[in-house]
Amino acid sequence: SAANLDGAGATPMMAQYIEIKAANTDCLLFYRMGDFYELFFEDAEIASRALGIVLTKRGKHGGADIPMCGVPVDRADDYLSRLIALGHRVAVCAQTEDAAEAKKRGPKSVVRREVVRLVTPGTITEDRLLDPARANLLLAVGRRKISDAAYAYGLAALDISTGRFSLSEVEAGELAAAIARHEPREIVLSETIHADPGLARLWREIPAAVTPLAQAELEPASAERRIREQFGVATLEGFGSFTRAEIAAAGAALLYIERTQVGARPILNPPTREASGETLSIDAATRANLELTRTLAGERAGSLLAAIDRTVSAGGTRLLAEHLAGPLTNLPAITRRHEAVTFLVNDPVLRAALREALARAPDLARALSRIGLGRGGPRDLAALRDGLAAASGIAERFFAQSVPLPDDLAALAQRLGQVDAELIEALRAALADDLPLNRRDGGFVREGYDAELDEVRLLGQDSRKVIAALQARYAEETGCRTLRIKHNNVLGYFIEVPQAVGESCLKGLMRDTFVHRQTMVDAMRFTSVELGELEARIAGASERALALEGEVFDALAVRVMAQAGIVAGVAEALAALDVAASHAELAVELDWTRPFVDEGLGFVVEGGRHPVVEAALRRSGEPFIANDCDLSGEGRGRIRLVTGPNMGGKSTFLRQNALIAVLAQMGAFVPARRVHLGVVDRLFSRVGAADDLARGHSTFMVEMVETAAILNQATRRSLVVLDEIGRGTATFDGLSIAWACLEHLHEQNGCRALFATHFHELTALSQRLSRLDNATLRVAEHKGEVVFLHEVVPGVAERSYGLQVARLAGLPASVVARAGSILKGLEKAERERPSRPRIDDLPLFASLAPPPPPEPPQERADALRLMLDGIDPDAMTPREAHEALYRLKAER
Ligand code: ADP
Repeated sequence: SAANLDGAGATPMMAQYIEIKAANTDCLLFYRMGDFYELFFEDAEIASRALGIVLTKRGKHGGADIPMCGVPVDRADDYLSRLIALGHRVAVCAQTEDAAEAKKRGPKSVVRREVVRLVTPGTITEDRLLDPARANLLLAVGRRKISDAAYAYGLAALDISTGRFSLSEVEAGELAAAIARHEPREIVLSETIHADPGLARLWREIPAAVTPLAQAELEPASAERRIREQFGVATLEGFGSFTRAEIAAAGAALLYIERTQVGARPILNPPTREASGETLSIDAATRANLELTRTLAGERAGSLLAAIDRTVSAGGTRLLAEHLAGPLTNLPAITRRHEAVTFLVNDPVLRAALREALARAPDLARALSRIGLGRGGPRDLAALRDGLAAASGIAERFFAQSVPLPDDLAALAQRLGQVDAELIEALRAALADDLPLNRRDGGFVREGYDAELDEVRLLGQDSRKVIAALQARYAEETGCRTLRIKHNNVLGYFIEVPQAVGESCLKGLMRDTFVHRQTMVDAMRFTSVELGELEARIAGASERALALEGEVFDALAVRVMAQAGIVAGVAEALAALDVAASHAELAVELDWTRPFVDEGLGFVVEGGRHPVVEAALRRSGEPFIANDCDLSGEGRGRIRLVTGPNMGGKSTFLRQNALIAVLAQMGAFVPARRVHLGVVDRLFSRVGAADDLARGHSTFMVEMVETAAILNQATRRSLVVLDEIGRGTATFDGLSIAWACLEHLHEQNGCRALFATHFHELTALSQRLSRLDNATLRVAEHKGEVVFLHEVVPGVAERSYGLQVARLAGLPASVVARAGSILKGLEKAERERPSRPRIDDLPLFASLAPPPPPEPPQERADALRLMLDGIDPDAMTPREAHEALYRLKAER
């Protein structure tokens, strides 16, 4: 592979390539050659396959052809984004001198080239590479020992496309959930953390690029120094106090930025610290299961996020996703968000005006970040102009309010009010109406802004007039009316006349004026001293104009950067306002209510709905049946056991209550008539393995691992939602596990819980467990057909209605009929069994009785084998088979 190529015997260019590639073995190398980035060797093979571009060859190395492919420089972004999406990293290698300079060093010198940037999933800034609706987070992980056996983990979450930078520390047990919340595109960490066997599964399964860094580079002292340098401060104290793990993480993040940006330093907001426990902890399985930001199939459409998103700006969309990923646990903060939404709900006129202004505001944060990295273009300056103008308009509207603003809105208005009107004016005055994408294209400075630029531009236009005049004069002097002065990239400006005229020019009057350049089939081309001078003037003018425009750009960029902190704050405030207005809009549109949240342990939902299921039903014109749920207090019903037929609505009911808690704590209104909620600290949701087809064969194992996590972590403040736990294994195993889990939740965790099951036997538990209550989904029967009422009522499901569901699902009538008669037989056998074990007789149900001493295993196995020998499956009726199974079970 290219990684261990030998430069010996290579052409000078190949030797240079091999040297650069050797320093960037973990990247695809985009090697600039003229108007193309070219890839060689294995890189070429990978890229041509990934991008579907032609693989060719160029020259030989070590006697073999060198595979090669290339992408045009001006379309490189497209190709880059596709490679990044596939998880590749790309080193962009530019020419850092031009060919003429290289020639000066010797005829065989190769143009100097350097890697100017590494493009990795977590460090991109280009508009075309970024998803406007998603943050693009780089997450760095550090750690510190807190006891002999345990570490605390520091997380640095950093988005260089917006400047967001936050630090937090979590216990080892919370690490996976904290990472899942951030949904990072890329994770950097030390080799040691990467190699920790206890974390191997986490790094393997996380859907992000994971990049280990050498331990030697991550010295604590250099971590601190990097942070100080990034923010130009002598000490970190001004930012608050950070743990060593957090500093290690921040240092790793900044080191990685330094390396990938090759010197360019992004503007980052000063790090904010999130104290642990400030956000509702939701682990990855719960996020997936509740389909918070994407569905189980990975789509945004169909997720809770998509259902609640009424934002109108890219920054708002990103912040909404961030809020949803990390609902709060801090009661005052939650209340402040609700108050802001309430205010906007109550003032539809203001809300509409704000949303209109927000919709016009471009993506300030990302434009600012590009300008800060020196990658900005004229359109980024225009984005600042329009974004800041929108912000100051909004601030004025707020200040004109006669009623006092709630705290959050007042704070936002104050930040928006800091916009410097002069900066907006300067941008307005400087920027033309139509703007090119790149500053190199020129033409973006408004006429009348810069006197010298106007003059040079005039000169350029003037010169064109002079050329026209020259053409007229030459035409007269040669007597050739078809003489033209033309321009192409090879010759520059030239005089073109028909062949015959050209011949006479060479001899006649014009002999001393015209210098021959080229003879075509039927034309001849000349130049002249005058034309040469004019050409130089024109070229000089446009170059000078470009240089002047560049100066204007840089001066504006410097002005912007001088206020980077304010601009970043304005961008944040606009996003936060968009989110609050989105919640308000949604609440009005769908008749959602403000939840009442307090520090208690209550949980009352009246008339709750599932936002996503309801939206789907609405499209097909069907009503959604609202349901109550009370898991409050110490009385009955802290744990609710839900039974009912398949398709009755159990899963929907369970999830809607979890979603209501998430919505309430993220600061949104909720789809219910009334909600009273004591702040939840951790939310867990699991579905029994049979639903979890995507995860492969060891699903039951996965289910048990995840269930274990809940039983170990849920506190009295937690909310636990378990759907059909234990169904992934044999009936009695599953029943026993579900039973024991319920007991543990009830006795040990003491959390609020919803537990759906098809093990009807479990409903008997409510007699023994004081805070367990049964609920079921009502079903009506109409002429033998089952009708699901989707209504949750106290009590126990009478029947399972499996056959009715099977019929509804379109199983052939003959099969349903046959199943019906088998069922009758089985039920009769069950009734007639002389010593049918009652559920209370099962060992697990007598939880306090000592288990009978087990028989020696060998004897039991012999007895079972004997019984099995006596069975001939082919000669048995279903009823006999069923009875045989019971006997075997009893013997076990
Ligand atoms: P279960 O978990 O009991 O099998 P689900 O919760 O998956 O049932 O619900 C099955 C279907 O019933 C849903 O897809 C939805 O169309 C409908 N449904 C569920 N709950 C309601 C409700 N409260 N009102 C109206 N329709 C509902």
